[in-house]
Amino acid sequence: MVDENTICVAAILGSTLNGEFEDVKLLNDLLVEKNKETGWDTPIHVDAASGGFIAPFLYPELEWDFRLPLVKSINVSGHKYGLVYAGIGWVIWRSKDDLPDELIFHINYLGADQPTFTLNFSKGSSQVIAQYYQLIRLGYEGYRNVMENCHENAMVLKRGLEKTGLFNIVSKDEGVPLVAFSLKDNKRHDEFDIAEMLRRFRWIVPAYTMPADAQHITVLRVVIREDFSRTLAESLVKDIEKVLHELDTLPVKVNAKLAMAEEEHSKNGTVKKTAIETQREITAYWKKFVSERKTNKNKIC
Ligand SMILES: *Cc1c(COP(=O)(O)O)cnc(C)c1O
Repeated sequence: MVDENTICVAAILGSTLNGEFEDVKLLNDLLVEKNKETGWDTPIHVDAASGGFIAPFLYPELEWDFRLPLVKSINVSGHKYGLVYAGIGWVIWRSKDDLPDELIFHINYLGADQPTFTLNFSKGSSQVIAQYYQLIRLGYEGYRNVMENCHENAMVLKRGLEKTGLFNIVSKDEGVPLVAFSLKDNKRHDEFDIAEMLRRFRWIVPAYTMPADAQHITVLRVVIREDFSRTLAESLVKDIEKVLHELDTLPVKVNAKLAMAEEEHSKNGTVKKTAIETQREITAYWKKFVSERKTNKNKIC
């Protein structure tokens, strides 16, 4: 897919969907070959939003960063495993030459040259200070302890889910400390039912379908943060077991009703919709709704 117009190839260190680290080294090596063959100079940007504060502490040997010659820039979210509250992220370039000066906006009306690369201008500095504090307060050792703890708790959760015998684990052990899992059998009830019912136990666990070409897979995902203790992991497993039990016993009526409705539908010649079909229908409806709003001058969108 790389051609002479490719600005850069982006690799993801810690997929949003299942926490997986892409093989940046392999990508680098392939691209080195390609550049040699063609005379192009295609660089790599690494989106390490989640993984950038994980890999250096849990997998220091993993080469994904400026150790690879084609990696020219990296972004990482301070508000994820950087351990700062929401609203801060970082991007770093390999060298000053990799950030063209034309992209930097200079002002001097505050008394001295102020270069900025951001889109919005005035912003409080508290988050920068909070990040600075965390870095100094925790240090390499502290971050490593936190990340190791997150990883251990992810494994506690993973083992607990495996023990039920009802789930496939779709995240890997190496990666962002999270557990993504799906039901082995979702005919009777599915991942969306579990997510819905877990709310009654005060858990908000997202259920979603995987992207194109893997859309038939629905997963539940639990991201393990610093404050997600082992006790919480164990209690989540217990609550998931309760939910599964309840789904198996209580809502028989609901299932029966649904089955009846389905029968009615099939009598009338309508086919039961899958979750994806329903989702698509909703999206199409909203698109239509918004575009009508936009074209109709009398209404305000
Ligand atoms: C979270 C995330 C982002 C977005 O980063 P923000 O700092 O929250 O804007 C981008 N890419 C990946 C892979 C992420 O996990």
